Formats: sequence, structure tokens, C-alpha cells
Amino acid sequence: TDWTPKYKRVLLKLSGEALGHGGKSGISLDEAAAIGEQLKRVVARGVQLAVVVGGGNILRGAQFSAGGETIKPATADYMGMLATVMNGLALQDTLEAMGVETRLQSAVRMETVAEPYIRRRALRHLEKGRVVILAGGTGNPFVTTDTAAALRGTELGVEVVLKATRVDGVYNADPEVNEFAEKYDRLTYDKVMRDGLRVMDMGAFDMCRTAKLPILVFNYKRDRAIERAVAGEPIGTIVAG
Ligand code: UDP
Repeated sequence: TDWTPKYKRVLLKLSGEALGHGGKSGISLDEAAAIGEQLKRVVARGVQLAVVVGGGNILRGAQFSAGGETIKPATADYMGMLATVMNGLALQDTLEAMGVETRLQSAVRMETVAEPYIRRRALRHLEKGRVVILAGGTGNPFVTTDTAAALRGTELGVEVVLKATRVDGVYNADPEVNEFAEKYDRLTYDKVMRDGLRVMDMGAFDMCRTAKLPILVFNYKRDRAIERAVAGEPIGTIVAG
């Protein structure tokens, strides 16, 4: 299928569950391959692609430390950051096996496993057409990979943050709970604030708003969803100024 990209440089926030076995813990090579095929077609169109990988399919800090006195919240968050590195490694080899050049950069220093995150180096990789996989989140506890996506998206000068989730977009209520929830096609940052809508973590959202960086929330399970998002097709919900 033929399509033209709307964007030259994008940041894809891939939640860990996109690489998981639907509900169960761990990494699914089939799901990784399905995502990889799409990413391959995106870079083949000359789009510069940075991917922030989540870790929720392996461990989420807030859930892991909840209730217990043993594992401290910060410790659990560092464990979550390490989970994102595992996903990043899986995505890296998946793409490389398809002939797509990649670089894995981690915000948590881990020299034997990944390059450290260095902004200017990441930009060079993007310019050379390499998929830059950003793991380790921000490197700091008490935030999630949404914040990493907003931060890296802003500093790498992308045109849009593509937030791949398991719902079709932003709704006026939780669509997984309320069957009458209605999806928005477009939203302004102000409307999101006024109505207290859930787009991404508040801090991350605010960063995008300040930078006037558009956010597209879409469902990664839909056919060719990532390509369609990059093509600017009406998929998901776009939040902009
Ligand atoms: N995390 C963190 N700092 C970051 C990014 C992630 O502490 O900058 C931890 C946090 O515990 C989070 C986990 O890593 O729950 C996995 O990331 P996230 O929950 O964002 O994954 P996703 O929901 O996107 O799969």
C-alpha cells in the first residue's frame, strides 16, 4: 500500500503492553515483529523515528511497590526502568533482523548494553535514518515513560508525539468501563485541561502543551495503525493548540 508521510520526524511512545502477550507478563516476539514490520515501513518512507519504549508488560513501579513496605517506590521505579531496557533490546534485535538500522540509547547508564542517551548523538542517528530506541525512561523515578516521551520529543524537535495505547483515543469517560463513552477526534490543550481529560501523565502533558508539541493518541492494535498515524490519517485523537 502506498502512502505519504505527514511528518518528517516523529516520536513514538510504545507502551510495554504493545510488546506483550495481551494481559500476561513478558515479551511476545510475534507482537514485536508486527510492530517492527510497521516501523520498517515508516522509516522506508524517509521518516525519522525515535521510539520511547515502556515497560508495563514486565513491571510498573507503582503497582510493584503498592501496599508493601519492602520494595520502596523509588526502587520499584528503577526496576521499571530496567524493564524498558529489556523491551528496548527486544525491539532492537527485532528491527535489526528485518534489516532496519537501530541504536539503543538508555537514560540509565548501562554501557555494555546500550549507548548512553546523548541528545546530539540521537539527532545524528535520526538524520542517518536509524531508528533511535530510547530506553530507561527519563532515568528518574516517580515519573513514567510518558514523561520521557514528552521530554525527548521536545528536545529532539519532533513534530508529533504518537502515543500508542490499547484504546482508540481520548474519550469523555473511560471506554473500558463506560460503553457510552465518546471519542474525540481533535482536542485543544485547553479543553483537555478544562475537562480534566486523560491524555498522558499530567506532567508529560504539560510539557507538550508548553512546547506546543501535538500528541496523537491511537490504538496500536488497529491495522497498520502506526503507518496511518504517521501518514496523518484520521486515526485516534489529536491534541494540539
Ligand atoms: N519509570 C520511571 N521513570 C521513567 C520511566 C519509567 O521510574 O522515567 C518506571 C516506572 O516505574 C514505570 C515503569 O518504569 O511504571 C515502566 O514504564 P511505564 O509504566 O511508563 O510503561 P508503559 O505503561 O508505557 O508500558
